[in-house]
Amino acid sequence: MRQHQLSSTESSNDYDQRELLNVHPPDWRNPEPADRYNLVIIGAGPAGMLTAINAASAGAKVALVERDRFGGACFNDGCIPSKAIIRTSRVYAEMRNAENFGAQVPTGISLDFPAAMERMRRVRARISRRVSAHRLSAMGVDVFFGEARFAGPDAIEVEGKRLRFKRALVASGARPKLPSIPGIAAAGYLTNESVFDLAECPRRLLVIGGGPLGCELAQAFCRLGSQVSIAQDDPMFLGNEERDAAQILSDALARDGIGIHLNTQTLNVRTEGNQKIVDLASDDYKFTLTVDEILVGIGSSPNVEGMNLEAAGVQFDKEAGIFTNDYLQTSNPQIYAAGDVCSEKKFPHIEAAAADLVVHNALFSGRERLSALAIPWCTYTDPEIAHVGLYVKEARAKGIPVKTFTVMMSEVDRAITDGEDEGFVKIHVREGTDKILGATVAASHAGEMISEISLAMSAGLGLGALARVSHPYPTQAQAIKLAADAYLATVRRPTRNWILRQWLAW
Ligand SMILES: Cc1cc2nc3c(=O)[nH]c(=O)nc-3n(C[C@H](O)[C@H](O)[C@H](O)COP(=O)(O)OP(=O)(O)OC[C@H]3O[C@@H](n4cnc5c(N)ncnc54)[C@H](O)[C@@H]3O)c2cc1C
Repeated sequence: MRQHQLSSTESSNDYDQRELLNVHPPDWRNPEPADRYNLVIIGAGPAGMLTAINAASAGAKVALVERDRFGGACFNDGCIPSKAIIRTSRVYAEMRNAENFGAQVPTGISLDFPAAMERMRRVRARISRRVSAHRLSAMGVDVFFGEARFAGPDAIEVEGKRLRFKRALVASGARPKLPSIPGIAAAGYLTNESVFDLAECPRRLLVIGGGPLGCELAQAFCRLGSQVSIAQDDPMFLGNEERDAAQILSDALARDGIGIHLNTQTLNVRTEGNQKIVDLASDDYKFTLTVDEILVGIGSSPNVEGMNLEAAGVQFDKEAGIFTNDYLQTSNPQIYAAGDVCSEKKFPHIEAAAADLVVHNALFSGRERLSALAIPWCTYTDPEIAHVGLYVKEARAKGIPVKTFTVMMSEVDRAITDGEDEGFVKIHVREGTDKILGATVAASHAGEMISEISLAMSAGLGLGALARVSHPYPTQAQAIKLAADAYLATVRRPTRNWILRQWLAW
């Protein structure tokens, strides 16, 4: 497909305008509703859009309602802008590290934050064609802009129009959780909804929260020239991840020059002129940081308010979101929920899997279970931390005996030639078998590598099968084959020794 080339004279504003024409066309007119829809969807984020596309291509009559912008948080102020900024920040990190690769960068590196932000907008405008209201409409989806609200168990109202449905999906997403730190509201702070609008790189930045969002953006802003500190109230970053993976990340952030404050509470914030003065405490050690901006990434709150869910008999909790069963059905079996409004793990590819599942279950009486899917996720720091399936502690809690095969990236030729030999591949199997329970990859390209293990898990292939997969040499993904070879050695060695003994006895 021929890609649209952007002229070098286009400004950030032009990119934003172009994006808007796709994600919320200003002159949009809502269509006349059909008598009854097979499926009405609230929210055009990844969960809602993908479900609408799948359902329409299966021949269903579908309505999709969005109150703001198509693409939701992922496209507008999540995955896409953050990954674009991370890419630029990696370029700066590589330039600073050029000598280690035997290369010279002519003179000192000058950081150009506005150029990085402009590239982010250019990238977002380009991708916006895929999340366009017109595109969905052309696929046969009735697109409505406006605030959706249930008018009963089988009808939704938007902009004075009533959409009657056989099935509905609530995919209304989530918004950043607001901090309850004294003084922070008055001092002002950034979230993912405002950080990508910054015109200047903050000279000093405090990131509160050490989950994926906090770690990714702390590293990116540090590499773009901010003096960054990160405060996390837990003893490690990335709460659920394996300890050694979280440690590798913590070391990497510290090496970049980020001030690491684990086990640290933010007590209060006040301002002095343009500066924000933040008091923090780590156990009984109290200290103060002076910064120009604070970025808060402490999780999200589900969008459950204002939809009149009660009228539809859909049970929810303001913190936990909408309650669903494993088939993604809510307490009203005709209404499903998917994505950040109900999911514990907030990633859009979970939404992609959920979209298939909803179409199958809601429209074709399927019984697919979310828990049966092998869904990987990744934190896009350098190195990246990716995971799929069970963690060891989860397997043990279920009474499953675990055997782990680990390969350090420092044993992988391509990782050494690339100067990216930090990290590991760990694959957990049920002891005594080659059934893959889960895996963690901490490596520069972990997000790309984890898919091979997800494929094996989805297809029911064991670790032995991965040992028979040829990889081009040299690649970093060979670490997966090495782990699989390590498994095979444990099976073959006893058999081979037995055969040798029999032979020699003869
Ligand atoms: C900074 C950041 C980076 C991220 N990076 C990644 C990443 O790299 N990889 C990854 O997998 N995940 C990432 N995520 C997570 C990802 O963005 C979310 O998991 C994803 O957006 C959730 O999709 P969703 O469809 O459930 O909800 P959303 O994307 O939030 O969409 C919900 C939509 O519903 C609309 N809506 C809500 N209420 C109503 C109503 N009453 N009527 C009509 N419309 C309504 C909203 O306007 C919104 O457009 C990131 C998140 C952030 C914040």
